Amino acid sequence: MKKVFTSCSLGDAYCVKALLEAEGIGSMIRNESLLQGQATVDGHPSVWVLDDSLVDAAESIASKYASGEGSPGGRSWKCPKCGELHDPQFTACWQCGTDRPEER
Ligand SMILES: [Zn+2]
Repeated sequence: MKKVFTSCSLGDAYCVKALLEAEGIGSMIRNESLLQGQATVDGHPSVWVLDDSLVDAAESIASKYASGEGSPGGRSWKCPKCGELHDPQFTACWQCGTDRPEER
């Protein structure tokens, strides 16, 4: 397990976790308890990748997010089937269930 992202904002940590999950990368957040005022010694909320073999991919996603590119996941997208517009964090159409089209 390896740390790929640290932020002073729990919201950022959650965004990165969601981005990783969208790529099939399992992760967890540490120091969530900051919210309840129980800050641990090492401080900020951080995102940890469970599978070491996915750390490289996870780090590139996290650094993309940190540089402001992926907030979160890029741009909104339009369902090719029903035309519904979605926020970037959704990976499938909530209207008709069509998977988000590949952008790359
Ligand atoms: Zn749709």
